Amino acid sequence: MRRKVVGIDVGGTFLKAAAVTEEGRIVVKEEWPTEVVQGTAAVLDRMAGIARAVAEKAGWTWHEVDGIGLGVPGFHDFQNDLCEESVNLGWKNVPVIAEMENRLGVPVRFDNDANAAALGEAWVGGGKDYRHTLFVTLGTGVGGGIVIDDQIYRGANGMAGEIGHLVLEPEHGERCNCGHIGCLETISSATAILRAAKQRLQRGDESSLRMVENLTTRDVFEHAAQGDRVAADVIDYAVHKLGYALALLANTLNPEVIVIGGGPSKAGDVLYKPLNRYFQTYALKRVVEAAEIRPAELGNDAGVLGAAKLVLG
Ligand SMILES: [Zn+2]
Repeated sequence: MRRKVVGIDVGGTFLKAAAVTEEGRIVVKEEWPTEVVQGTAAVLDRMAGIARAVAEKAGWTWHEVDGIGLGVPGFHDFQNDLCEESVNLGWKNVPVIAEMENRLGVPVRFDNDANAAALGEAWVGGGKDYRHTLFVTLGTGVGGGIVIDDQIYRGANGMAGEIGHLVLEPEHGERCNCGHIGCLETISSATAILRAAKQRLQRGDESSLRMVENLTTRDVFEHAAQGDRVAADVIDYAVHKLGYALALLANTLNPEVIVIGGGPSKAGDVLYKPLNRYFQTYALKRVVEAAEIRPAELGNDAGVLGAAKLVLG
């Protein structure tokens, strides 16, 4: 019999859930506000509620559901199935598996949200035709995950794949949320790119970006592609550091594919041409030969699909 699972991407603002087939097809999906302010038990109740809601909308009876997978932001203790700390959710030491299995009566699996997205992309997205996937997502921060043969590599205490905190500018970089200075995410995240562009404008640099109302990261990429000097400089710096970081990681992991996610991943040649060039500058030749750099394919669905895949194994 075909297996049926539900994946939930648990965010600080929204819960996204999908009923997913064992081939990785989304039958139906739904989004509810998380309502973190109502407290941990209420959020867990809502997670159980959205799981039942998507299963019902998919036309599945509850006893047909093989399990629930969760992508949960924060730091987790996978030995004891605990969410140790999630700043986004306001959780401390929440036994998330036990809580959800009590509510739902089916097996529950969980992982960190970035790992879940990495697994989704490796399974049916940008990494689907490859065995060794390195996933990097450029958003508010820089997240990542390492997936080998459809299994997440978690490391000793769940910290593998924290690519955003590679320290690349220890002397004159910006302070990162993690406490260090000059992490990759302070340089190459979508947020960092936008901040750098705004700093250049505040400094008085002449740029076509000045004409843009409500400047976004996407505008910076677009103006760089059109030849604006300031936008091009900002992008070049962010992409240079990203390419360097990917080369360090690739020399260590020898991935078959590096999947880039997040808003900037859709920027096209203005991202991928220099990224490939910098990657080739710093990575070993045989490492470069084995690795393709590709955009993510699943967008916001990566998290729910990867969460579902946690159940399927
Ligand atoms: Zn950091």
